[in-house]
Amino acid sequence: MDPCRDLATLDALPGDPAAEWPGLPSREPLPPEETLRRRQQALAGLGPRRLAQLEALAPGLEQRQADAALRAVHEPRSNRSRLGVALQLVDAFARAVEPLAACRRGCAHCCHIRVEMTELEAERLGQAIGRQPNTRHRYLPAQASAYGYDTPCPFLVDSECSIYEHRPFACRKHHSVDVNELFCRLDVPAAFAASVPQVRPTAALLVWGSAVTASMGVADIRDWFPGERELARGPVGRIASAQELADAAEAEAP
Ligand code: SF4
Repeated sequence: MDPCRDLATLDALPGDPAAEWPGLPSREPLPPEETLRRRQQALAGLGPRRLAQLEALAPGLEQRQADAALRAVHEPRSNRSRLGVALQLVDAFARAVEPLAACRRGCAHCCHIRVEMTELEAERLGQAIGRQPNTRHRYLPAQASAYGYDTPCPFLVDSECSIYEHRPFACRKHHSVDVNELFCRLDVPAAFAASVPQVRPTAALLVWGSAVTASMGVADIRDWFPGERELARGPVGRIASAQELADAAEAEAP
């Protein structure tokens, strides 16, 4: 089977051929809102279709991942070991999704949004790069709206990840399964900001969640490893625990 040819056939949305939607790097002007709206409508139902395509590309992947996840969660293991399994699972999932994803080398919109990391992951990354994570100060507000093109991840160098082998779980699980980067752009109007179609690595998320304890700190990668911009900006708060963040989210819920 030629997966690319089959996928191209499946992606020929009636009236909206993929050719009408060029990749649009962020320096090019956005199309008019009406065009974005039609594109958003054309994306309806893409998620389930991508899951079906994923099953065709990698038969049995979901079951294999679910089995491995259940083993990892039920076996007596350290949180560090569970994190290792979660990373293996999410990488295997990402490899399978790659032919369906718009993501490509040098496309770094998502390296400017919030990148959540647990204390355990920060320790793991710190050991790999020989740098002690900051465990006290938060440099950016917790709200996703505080992030944008002026807040690149400190590890983004020339539009590429300089710690790719060691990047956190959040980066590994994030891919757009659209045909291009249009809705990944951070300058799309708010009404379209949540339109990036994604498929969730459910099994990996389960294992990753099982490695998080209530007292474990959770913060953005820029808080754990502040770059020059963050240090110049100065701290805005302290690193909160997973439990504190959950309590705050509950209090904010309508
Ligand atoms: S760790 Fe790498 S992939 Fe993740 S946000 Fe930073 S530069 Fe991007």
